[in-house]
Amino acid sequence: MTTVDPSPIHPDAVADLKQSLAGSVVLPGDPEYESAATVYGTVYGATAAPALVAQVSDADDVGVAVAFARSHGLELSVRSGGHSGSGFSTNVGGVVIDLRRLNSVEIIDPVRRLVRIGAGATWGQVAATLDGSGLALSSGDTTSVGVGGLSLGGGIGWMVRTCGLALDSVVEATIVTAGSEVLRVSADEHPELFWAIRGGGGNFGVVTSFTFHARSLSRVFSGTLQFGDADLAELLAGWRDVMRAAPDELNTTFLAMPAFPGMPGGVQVLVCFAGDDAVAAEAALAPLRDLPGLTSDDVAAHPYVDLLEEAHPPEGMTIIGHNAFARELTDEALGDLASMYAELGGSVLMIRSLGGAFSRVPNDATAFGFRDSEALIISVAFLPPDGPAEAGSRVRDLWQHVSPHLQGTYAGFSSAPGGEEPALLYSPDTLSRLMSLKRTYDPENLFRRNHNIPPDLAR
Ligand SMILES: Cc1cc2nc3c(=O)[nH]c(=O)nc-3n(C[C@H](O)[C@H](O)[C@H](O)COP(=O)(O)OP(=O)(O)OC[C@H]3O[C@@H](n4cnc5c(N)ncnc54)[C@H](O)[C@@H]3O)c2cc1C
Repeated sequence: MTTVDPSPIHPDAVADLKQSLAGSVVLPGDPEYESAATVYGTVYGATAAPALVAQVSDADDVGVAVAFARSHGLELSVRSGGHSGSGFSTNVGGVVIDLRRLNSVEIIDPVRRLVRIGAGATWGQVAATLDGSGLALSSGDTTSVGVGGLSLGGGIGWMVRTCGLALDSVVEATIVTAGSEVLRVSADEHPELFWAIRGGGGNFGVVTSFTFHARSLSRVFSGTLQFGDADLAELLAGWRDVMRAAPDELNTTFLAMPAFPGMPGGVQVLVCFAGDDAVAAEAALAPLRDLPGLTSDDVAAHPYVDLLEEAHPPEGMTIIGHNAFARELTDEALGDLASMYAELGGSVLMIRSLGGAFSRVPNDATAFGFRDSEALIISVAFLPPDGPAEAGSRVRDLWQHVSPHLQGTYAGFSSAPGGEEPALLYSPDTLSRLMSLKRTYDPENLFRRNHNIPPDLAR
């Protein structure tokens, strides 16, 4: 956290804002300023030094705070769970709209399985509230990630092959636009805006709540299959073949990692069979258990809530993450990925299986691209702070080598300081539709602390 100047905004303006909000305003020097301003992205080097944080209580508050930032020409950040790797949900010298008080989780229609969730809730809260209700929502894997950012950008979680992305379960949302208008968006109301917010991130306004269609689910079969010495490319090919024939209920992540203090290294397949039927789960898991070199297996029935965990990034390390989608995991691609892992040294390689329900959503049904992908490839390098500067560029070079097999990138896992190039996130058709909607809903690009969709190419 850098030292922050006293608020550059005129005290009378701040006093007016405080009067107008049902929520509160946190300023530099206030005891709660540091926790209000800091976000996860600071582990990737983002700076958190806003002039004020508006802790809003409802959509009207959001409208007031949006109008305040607009009229004072201030940088605006929107924060739900604060897990943007790029640190977009805070800023230097601007306004942060903090949605964490908008964190209700309500089953509003048990028969139609509709759940309304405040954008500031975390996925841990959601899973804990739904636990025991017979309902679950596919989210991400981490308890403290926010509903807002994950649902607007994608949401690749433990049930992605079973239910699709988290955003595929959204049926309605409430959004506050750059003009401070509060709109309800769905397939029937403002359908174009509804399309855009499912994959277009925070580019079109501040979403205050989402209504999701939940899945009936009382338990999952989850755990880890650990593999001993095996040829990595061969094991990857075996895993790929199993996943190609697997039912939608079977979700897995292939993980190769070196040993870390307190954690043995090796190859693991992390499993979540998202279905209640133990016999079907055993049948789906059997071919994974037949892969060469299985040394341990703790897959068992669990409530879904038990799958979500907290992330503990190693302290004092520089983290360099890369990710891209693979349309097809060919033998050549797997061979190159195995070589990349060997060369990376000290890095984690994670391959998340996609396909299933994720891939059956038509490409143009939402603004999210790359539905034709078989997997998402992620590498995470942990470098000591005094590690050589070339280490980062070496990781980039290794990725260049595998890039012919890959396409695009998942914005959710990006920590690019200025955001990703839109052309890496969207097809040309999707991008031009998004830019046209940006010109309609946010022509001045007030909402630009995100993987930004410019209103026009000149910007
Ligand atoms: C430890 C960790 C684990 C993760 N695990 C997963 C995972 O398993 N699966 C997965 O898919 N992703 C995962 N992610 C990525 C995550 O989905 C994205 O970082 C996501 O954007 C975080 O959402 P947030 O609300 O917590 O973040 P924030 O930082 O609050 O927001 C992220 C972006 O969305 C904008 N935004 C947030 N809320 C709103 C809103 N209500 N209205 C408008 N704009 C908004 C912000 O301005 C910012 O640009 C993980 C990230 C981390 C750091």
